Amino acid sequence: MIRFEEVTKVYRGTARPALNGVSLEILSGEFVFLVGASGSGKSTFLRLVLKEEKPTSGSIHVLGQDLGAISSRKVPYFRRNLGVVFQDFRLLPNKTVFANVAFTLQVIGKSKGFIHEAVPDALRTVGLEGKEGRFPHELSGGEQQRVAIARALVNKPAIMLADEPTGNLDPATSAGIMTLLERINANGTTVIMATHDAGIVDRLQRRVIEVIGGRIVRDERGGGYQTQA
Ligand code: ADP
Ligand code: ADP
Repeated sequence: MIRFEEVTKVYRGTARPALNGVSLEILSGEFVFLVGASGSGKSTFLRLVLKEEKPTSGSIHVLGQDLGAISSRKVPYFRRNLGVVFQDFRLLPNKTVFANVAFTLQVIGKSKGFIHEAVPDALRTVGLEGKEGRFPHELSGGEQQRVAIARALVNKPAIMLADEPTGNLDPATSAGIMTLLERINANGTTVIMATHDAGIVDRLQRRVIEVIGGRIVRDERGGGYQTQA
């Protein structure tokens, strides 16, 4: 589903690679935590999967496609297979919940009929039925993140990428978001989540990939946040 072969990323104007010789494979249906200190390269990994950045060397395959062979014209089509969620939600502040979730579908030209089925469906999945007409500022942080997850889900993506999705939420709210991501994963979506939250990683016991200074130092099935001594 995702394959990195000897991927190195050096940002323009920097000396030290943000990712350094990373090779890994993530299979369909996996739930993977990416852990590591701030600046270790987690977001860079996610941006490379999205083809928002290109590797300095090495090759990346996602969903059977060589990202190096996808023309910039085709990138938007490729990205329809990927749902993305961020720490800061990134909702459109002057649009309703419904319109936030509908927005990408409108951009890609889906019919009104399709949108009026798919949006309520996604909002039901995240437990926000009845909040269609609210604006983001009228919602709690946890509810805003659920809107962002609904927006990521509405295209039925094969892969969901989450960059510190619980970073702005209290522990109880975070637990609810994790239950939701686990359910999405159980329904077949591959989930890759970058996080600093040791409590969550220790509780879920999923695959853990630990990055330090751009290198993978641990790739463990059913692992915790830190290496067990
Ligand atoms: P993490 O997500 O683990 O915090 P990042 O992938 O954001 O790590 O960053 C990895 C390294 O790359 C850091 O040293 C960071 O400063 C650097 N970096 C990230 N984005 C850029 C950029 N656009 N330009 C230059 N350096 C960057
Ligand atoms: P526009 O992009 O034209 O400004 P909006 O972004 O406000 O329109 O809304 C996008 C779509 O979502 C429209 O089809 C609108 O009818 C629909 N919509 C907005 N809010 C709701 C709601 N609470 N319930 C159902 N449909 C809604």
